Amino acid sequence: MSDDIAKDSAQGSSRSTVNNHQQQSPPPALLSRYESQKRRDWNTFGQYLKNQRPPVALSQCNSSHVLDFLRYLDQFGKTKVHHYGCVFFGQPDPPAPCTCPLRQAWGSLDALIGRLRAAYEEHGGSPGNNPFGNGAIRVYLREVRECQAKARGIVYKKKKRRKNQTILTVGVGEAKSSAKPLPA
Ligand SMILES: [Zn+2]
Repeated sequence: MSDDIAKDSAQGSSRSTVNNHQQQSPPPALLSRYESQKRRDWNTFGQYLKNQRPPVALSQCNSSHVLDFLRYLDQFGKTKVHHYGCVFFGQPDPPAPCTCPLRQAWGSLDALIGRLRAAYEEHGGSPGNNPFGNGAIRVYLREVRECQAKARGIVYKKKKRRKNQTILTVGVGEAKSSAKPLPA
C-alpha cells in the first residue's frame, strides 16, 4: 500500500518536472528610460487636454493649461508637504503621520516639464511658443521648490546641466495608471 503511494507521488513529481528552460529575456531596449518616460508623459498630457471641457487643442495650449496640469497631478503625489501649522513642518523625517497633503515632489515636476518641453518641440511645436518653456512655469516650479524645501526641511540642489541623469519616474506614471474617471 505504501508502495502505491510512493509510486503515485513519484509519478506526480516526475510530471511536474516538465521544465521549460525558456529564458525570459527582456525585449530589446528600443527606447531609453528617458525616451519612454517622455513618451508616456506626452501621452498623459495629451489625454489631459482632451479631457478638458471643452477639449483643448495642442495648438491652443498655453502655460496656464500646463500650470493646471501640474496642479492636477498633485492629487497623485506621494510627497508629504507639511502645512505651516503642522508640528512636523520643516522636519525631513517626521516620527509620526500627520494629515498634511501629499503632493508631487518638486524634482518630479521639474523633470517632467523638461521632458514635456522637449516632446512639444519634437511634435512640431515651435520653440518660441513652447508653453513648457514659459516663464510662468519657471516661477511656479521655483515656488514649489521653495515651499517644499521649507516644509520638508530639505535643500534642493538644481544641477546646471540639462542632461537628465536622474529620471524621476514618480508622478505622471502614477497619474496615468489611475486615470479613471475621478469623482466630480
Ligand atoms: Zn504635516
